[in-house]
Amino acid sequence: MSRLDLFIDRMVSQRACIDHAVHLTRDLPGPVFELGLGNGRTYHHLCGRLPAEKVFVFERAVASHPDSTPPAGQVLLGDVFETLPQALVRFGPVARLIHADLGGHDAEKNDVFAREVSPLVEPLLAVGGLMVSSDRMYFTDLAEIALPPDAVPGRCFIYRREA
Ligand code: SAM
Repeated sequence: MSRLDLFIDRMVSQRACIDHAVHLTRDLPGPVFELGLGNGRTYHHLCGRLPAEKVFVFERAVASHPDSTPPAGQVLLGDVFETLPQALVRFGPVARLIHADLGGHDAEKNDVFAREVSPLVEPLLAVGGLMVSSDRMYFTDLAEIALPPDAVPGRCFIYRREA
């Protein structure tokens, strides 16, 4: 596969999994966490499907497209290894949906990062809440669930807190 093929698969899968997760969690009242703002494309997509005031963004340096830049009050600015524990104190275990796209171009580094950040993400999710990630995560209490038909296996992952 070319890098273009991989990129397209990741984008198609992100959109399909976010839309699927938004639908499956429609009855949960909690906030939505976007980990990694980047250009803001997935943030913009989330805000088209959810009330923007429900979406909180975790990013160490905001540099997004002007159309996709969250208000300062919706941003938890800093390294996620600091802001995720702060979010647990601030919000508690109530997140409806967490979407993570924190990785770069190095798959091995992304995997190490995913192992390290998983224990900080896991306690934020409400019962019935979903976590969508571009990288495989390493959770102890969340169950991996099936992808929607449009997503490409291995390009996106969805996890649910069952209880
Ligand atoms: N999903 C975004 C979009 O659609 O435009 C792209 C996200 S981009 C691939 C990854 C982002 O994660 C970068 O903006 C980077 O600054 C952020 N990031 C990576 N590691 C981080 C960390 N440890 N703490 C906070 N932000 C981080």
